[in-house]
Amino acid sequence: QAKAQGRAGFRFFEAVMNEAVARRLQIETELRQALDRHEFRLHFQPQMDPAGQRIVAAEALIRWQRESGELVSPAAFIPVAEESGLVADIGLWVLQSACEQLAEWRSAGLEPVRLAINLSARQLRDPELPVLVERVLSRQRIDPALLELEVTESVAMQRPETTIANLRALKALGVSLAIDDFGTGYSSLAYLKLFPLDRLKLDQTFVRDIEHDPNDASICAATVGLAHSLRLELVAEGVETRAQHAFLRDLGCDLLQGYLFHRPMPAGAFAVLLEHQQAGGPPARGV
Ligand code: C2E
Ligand code: MG
Ligand code: MG
Ligand code: MG
Repeated sequence: QAKAQGRAGFRFFEAVMNEAVARRLQIETELRQALDRHEFRLHFQPQMDPAGQRIVAAEALIRWQRESGELVSPAAFIPVAEESGLVADIGLWVLQSACEQLAEWRSAGLEPVRLAINLSARQLRDPELPVLVERVLSRQRIDPALLELEVTESVAMQRPETTIANLRALKALGVSLAIDDFGTGYSSLAYLKLFPLDRLKLDQTFVRDIEHDPNDASICAATVGLAHSLRLELVAEGVETRAQHAFLRDLGCDLLQGYLFHRPMPAGAFAVLLEHQQAGGPPARGV
């Protein structure tokens, strides 16, 4: 009968839901354990000058190294962490680790390069964020100009008032601010004049086909023009080929990040690159 069938259908639906909820809870539990067990790592990806010769900055990207040795990508766990609120603790860990790393490189006598970290929506909404950042910077005696905070457009647009207040307070500390994945959010260009920004990071989806898709090429060119007319620097992400590099350099991009130059790497490998650069060696890769 229809009613019995309906009931069975509901039970099925319930079972599927329970399974999804259970899986989510499982990941949450694992993430909490991962924090306790120190299973998170930061990898570092260089940002190059337009010639692709010098490392001028880096982006810190989180990795979860499970007991098995498996490296889990942030795309797989940041969204869960975001929904559960755990992202606040993970985000604080990232901030602290990035600043510890800057302090460590300083102790090793390396010339400082700016280090960018990614902020989640929840962190940006937290009125305590500027105080937290100030505390971590001063504890490690880090020049605030060496820390960059990346936020995505959609994150920044969620609560414009809190966001603007936070970004202004952060800017007052002297940290740099960048909009990540620029061009992919439900953008409003109006916020570009409200937010105290230093850089735009052009999303890699526009870079991918830059040589073959005239629309992508136009978007890249227009974005460089927009950034520069607002006195912002433009960072191109996802540069994988020499042709993309040449194109973006000729458009006037200020910084380039991508596999063509370097993949994200552990801290030790990044320090070796910096040492090498400081010693005046040729670029580590023949770009
Ligand atoms: P994102 O901030 O836009 O980071 C750039 C992503 O592009 C990184 O992926 C990087 O490894 C990748 N990438 C860099 N160059 C290339 C290239 O030439 N080709 C291609 N195909 N990809 C390239 P990853 O490390 O998997 O991170 C994915 C996203 O996870 C990040 O995107 C960011 O949104 C988020 N994420 C990473 N670390 C953190 C973190 O510490 N906190 C938060 N809240 N989010 C993070
Ligand atoms: Mg980023
Ligand atoms: Mg990005
Ligand atoms: Mg991204």
